[in-house]
Amino acid sequence: MSESKNYLAYTESIDQVKAHFETDLSQGLSSQEAAKRLESYGTNEIQEEERRSTFQKFIDQFKDFMIIVLLAAAAISAVVGISQGEGITDTIIILIVVLLNAVLGVFQEAKAEEAIDALKKMSSPLAHVLRDGDVKEIKSTQLVPGDVVLLEAGDVVPADIRLVEASSLKIEEAALTGESVPVEKNTDALENPEAGIGDRYNMGYSSTNVTYGRGKGIITGTGMETEVGHIAKMLSSTQKQLTPLQRDQEALGKTLTKAIIVVAVVTFLIGTLLNGMGIMEMLLVSISLAVAAIPEGLPAISTIILSLGTQTMADRNALVRTLPAVETLGSTQVICSDKTGTLTLNEMTVEHVFHDDQLFAANQDLDLNSHFIHSFVLPNDSKVDNDGKIIGDPTETAMVKYAIDHQMDYKGLLADYPRIDEVPFESDRKLMSTIHKLEDGRFAVYVKGASDQLIQRATQIEINGQVRPIQEADISKIQEQNESLAKQALRVLAGAYKIIDQVPATVNSETVENDLIFTGLVAMIDPERQEAKDSIRKARNAGIRTVMITGDHAITAQAIAERLEILDPKAADNSSHVMTGADLNEISDEELAKNVANYSVYARVSPEHKVRIIKAWQANDKTVSMTGDGVNDAPSLKQADIGVGMGITGTEVSKGASDMVLADDNFQTIVVAVEEGRKVFSNIQKAVQFLLSANLGEIITLFVATLFGWVILKPIHILWINLVTDVFPAIALGMEKADPDTMKYAPRTKEDSFLSFGIFPSILYQGVFEGAITLLVYWYVDIHLGLEHTLAETMAFITLGLQQLFHSYNVKSVFKSLFSSNPFDNKYLNLAFLGSGALLFGVILIPGINGFFDVHNPNLEQWIICIVASFALVILTEIVKFIFRTTGLADKYQSIPHLDD
Ligand code: ATP
Repeated sequence: MSESKNYLAYTESIDQVKAHFETDLSQGLSSQEAAKRLESYGTNEIQEEERRSTFQKFIDQFKDFMIIVLLAAAAISAVVGISQGEGITDTIIILIVVLLNAVLGVFQEAKAEEAIDALKKMSSPLAHVLRDGDVKEIKSTQLVPGDVVLLEAGDVVPADIRLVEASSLKIEEAALTGESVPVEKNTDALENPEAGIGDRYNMGYSSTNVTYGRGKGIITGTGMETEVGHIAKMLSSTQKQLTPLQRDQEALGKTLTKAIIVVAVVTFLIGTLLNGMGIMEMLLVSISLAVAAIPEGLPAISTIILSLGTQTMADRNALVRTLPAVETLGSTQVICSDKTGTLTLNEMTVEHVFHDDQLFAANQDLDLNSHFIHSFVLPNDSKVDNDGKIIGDPTETAMVKYAIDHQMDYKGLLADYPRIDEVPFESDRKLMSTIHKLEDGRFAVYVKGASDQLIQRATQIEINGQVRPIQEADISKIQEQNESLAKQALRVLAGAYKIIDQVPATVNSETVENDLIFTGLVAMIDPERQEAKDSIRKARNAGIRTVMITGDHAITAQAIAERLEILDPKAADNSSHVMTGADLNEISDEELAKNVANYSVYARVSPEHKVRIIKAWQANDKTVSMTGDGVNDAPSLKQADIGVGMGITGTEVSKGASDMVLADDNFQTIVVAVEEGRKVFSNIQKAVQFLLSANLGEIITLFVATLFGWVILKPIHILWINLVTDVFPAIALGMEKADPDTMKYAPRTKEDSFLSFGIFPSILYQGVFEGAITLLVYWYVDIHLGLEHTLAETMAFITLGLQQLFHSYNVKSVFKSLFSSNPFDNKYLNLAFLGSGALLFGVILIPGINGFFDVHNPNLEQWIICIVASFALVILTEIVKFIFRTTGLADKYQSIPHLDD
């Protein structure tokens, strides 16, 4: 095989292409040959732009506004320190703060990248390929030139492919050509070597979507040697993607930085002009105040918490594909879910059949050689493998199983009735038809699908082998049967056929699915998932509405919705909460938006209806998640705030369009992910509350002290406290377990921010307490007792630092008492407490270092004063929390859902 770079496969015949790539259309490549080619061509992946090196990432951290302010502060303090002959210890500490922050930034980027990579790997698409004569499902990355690939509706084309078979194959190539109308494909060689990509009808291109039909082709290029590989830049934008929360935080960080600079300048002016303190001394104090109060670690800490969230979610079967999704999940207000497979088990079993004017139980005798049974097992893609296992779509396998249970020779039947053409099933049309060659040279068309669709196309009915025109009475009887079966939550499908002399020139729904002879109904049970019922209840208690969407009949849908308690099983008027696709077609978008809250079940809908339903909820400012599995679901998955794909049954196209993929296709996993999303958000809030209240405490301490003309803390003390007590407890708070009440509160709305739900007032009162306590200790020692100034400074230093460590426990809950559950249940927080404590007080206790920090080791009694004063912050916070709870203010901040919404 020669180098394929400039090989124009579309101008060559199938045989030439086959020979060129040394492959076999019925066997595919051998595994050994494929492995060899993989070795020489590399994996089938688009190489992303070179990732920035760790060093580059490190350097990039210094471009941040807050960091630039800190660097300026370091420079000023160096100049001042040297000119005063005081050395540059402050400068060194500021630089350590900056460095630590940069390291944290690099760590957070690495963590986020790692999380995204892991997610990418898990959601890497699969392809069907012929190898060693068998159809195998393998990761698309393992494909090589010469591989023979099978395509069907819903697949993403895994590489560049020269088609060798195309049956009604249509591919949407918007990613390459910008043209969103799917292109009909064929296998004829083109004459024009200049044909543009959009005109190469015999090729399939990597990353485009198969929307219809089936095909087979030889891979002509993989990885960077594909058309998308050539324009790889288009896809591999590695732009930093900020979540709304991170954007808000960056904005808040900038505002706070500016405000803090103002406070620092005012402090400087008051100290020097009003209180006659030394200019250089005050300059250093103001600079260290600014350094300590700027919340430089905030965005990095949030990203780390979000990345940790993706891992926990993945462990629980929810593969989140982007960081913003983790955050949005927590605010989900409406979950729209497909019925089949997500709310039900998708394990269909035939329970009843209706034909020849009679209803039969599934175990009753059956005439296998009838048009009735043929109309269900012939237009059917189920396969029976060598072990007798029936593989395929559960709706279809149920029918084949039913026939085989009645001793049908299924393989024999397929051989006797060779399928020569088909109109594939589509959820829009809700029908599937196949054309079979008969022994007498004529052809049989068999159709199965939704009974309402099929009756419209039937002109005759077969009863006891007699065919006669279908009459009103027949139709009413069929509908009656359909309805009574549907009420038992059964899925009902109808069958029909006709015999034709000639196959129409173009085979499609219009030319084939008309003038049919109705044969009967098949009713099957698809049991609801028990865990889905519990999750629906849990979601409801959390103020989240579950909406069921299905292609199934309205009555079946209603019966299942009642069993799942999406509709109140005892209510009499449930049908008024069910809307059908036909109803939807009748009303305008405005009307739908006005009434959308009234409907919990949508039946007989097509994928395009889903987009309207999402938009109607969004028009009411709701955050909506929507599930989808088919190729036509991609637009609704993109429209939803959280598009949820199905890991097992979903098409590659739908997974690619989703924000989250359920590894187990289970509704319960959505609710689990929402809960996890809420936890992540609340942990970020804890980190924010901790950092900002601690910073406020520092500002108040220094500002008020300056007003009184006190020198309460040396710059090095402030900087050290900031360095060792900020980051570690904040990250540890990100690892808090979920509050057991997480799912008792209403979802946050689009107006809520990370300062909502009582965080803002908590930051204020806790910051004030922290400052007041530190000032009080200083006043008591320095002014009241008149002890040595260095001792008073040291005790203020201990009290401020220790309060922050105690305070990290206070923020475990905004309103609940710290002692309402085990305060030490977060081992990371305990470690952060001990580690930061050791660093903080090591500088007082370790001889040599304490000289450097200019501190005076207090005696036991003085230590006890500091500890008791610091612990007072916990007690005061408990008292305020108690007041919040008993006055009902806490409930105002944390809204409990109104279940009648
Ligand atoms: P969901 O609840 O996930 O939307 P659904 O299975 O109810 O899934 P579709 O798969 O779109 O929805 O099916 C819609 C209708 O089409 C079904 O109620 C059934 O009448 C009919 N149908 C489903 N599968 C087939 C099939 N393989 N062949 C023919 N008709 C089918």
